[in-house]
Amino acid sequence: MAKLNCNDVLQYMDDYIDGEMDSELKKEMDLHLQKCDICHQIMMSHEKTINLLKKAMEIEPDQKMMIRIKNYLNSHLSKH
Ligand SMILES: [Zn+2]
Repeated sequence: MAKLNCNDVLQYMDDYIDGEMDSELKKEMDLHLQKCDICHQIMMSHEKTINLLKKAMEIEPDQKMMIRIKNYLNSHLSKH
């Protein structure tokens, strides 16, 4: 399997956090996150953000919110 790059990790991040992920893919994600500080940081803050949102609203973040978070993360990534 091809190595994941940062964009792939970002793309699969929601599934990863939700635990809805192919185990092979999850392994690749874990590998990347161990090596890549940027994605690790983003994952941490992403997870925290989602958990905060869920707690605050007591519902799943809706699609628009997820897109907004992704845009934020993308602009974060492109600075790298
Ligand atoms: Zn990365």
